[in-house]
Amino acid sequence: MDRELLDNKRISERDDKFKPQDDQALCKESKEDKEKEKNLVAVLSTTIGHYFPEFNKWLKEISDPREQEAIDFTRETQIWTGIILFLTKRGARKKISDEMRTKEFCENLKTLSAQANLERVAHGDAVNYAYMRFKEEEFELLLVKMMRRLLRVRALEKYRLLGKYYTIAIDATGVYSFNYKHCEQCLMREDKKGNKKWYHLKLQASLVTWDGLCLPMASEWIENEAKFSKQDCEIKAFYRLIEKLRRLYRQLPMCILLDGLYAGEPNLKR
Ligand SMILES: [Zn+2]
Repeated sequence: MDRELLDNKRISERDDKFKPQDDQALCKESKEDKEKEKNLVAVLSTTIGHYFPEFNKWLKEISDPREQEAIDFTRETQIWTGIILFLTKRGARKKISDEMRTKEFCENLKTLSAQANLERVAHGDAVNYAYMRFKEEEFELLLVKMMRRLLRVRALEKYRLLGKYYTIAIDATGVYSFNYKHCEQCLMREDKKGNKKWYHLKLQASLVTWDGLCLPMASEWIENEAKFSKQDCEIKAFYRLIEKLRRLYRQLPMCILLDGLYAGEPNLKR
């Protein structure tokens, strides 16, 4: 086992010890909560520093159409705020205003984002404003950079099937659903009672491991065409996704895991 792998093992043991709990209260004033908060930031900062030492540099490369002279929060800070919202399962941006705008949280955010002049945490609406303007495809490329790095430093070696293939699961996942026709690309489903729902699905390819990791590699929207069935749309998205995986991860030995929908000869040939 080489040094890189030993280090990775140590990091994951430490992660287990300090695993953040669901809805961990990051900013309440109790001593126990403060300790947990310190642990979460320490784990995040150590893990990111170890696996992705250039993470903040990558964030800086994401285009930010906001007026740069007028902003108080860098894109790194706003992205980190969003990441913590997600990790601590604070779904609503109101939560930022209620729970996250404390001095302690601000110090932690400063450590993670490296914004030296950070004095307060943004209002939830400002975080939302920034995210609405970032480009989805650039965030997908950020994930690709992260995956490429993990592959390059051989952090995922032990998960290779037969010592060679990375196991990549591909399946559709629901992203939005509406009670009305939201756009021309919406897929529509009608139940037996005639109730209609319009929705958007994404086909997601993720590297999955025997101990439960699921690491996103690439995705494709499943889009409506003039005449369609869910199955046709998903299969077409699958062809696009396979091409994308080949383009983004050249020469990567992959074993693709699929459900019964794909068990037709044309798909197997691809
Ligand atoms: Zn739509």
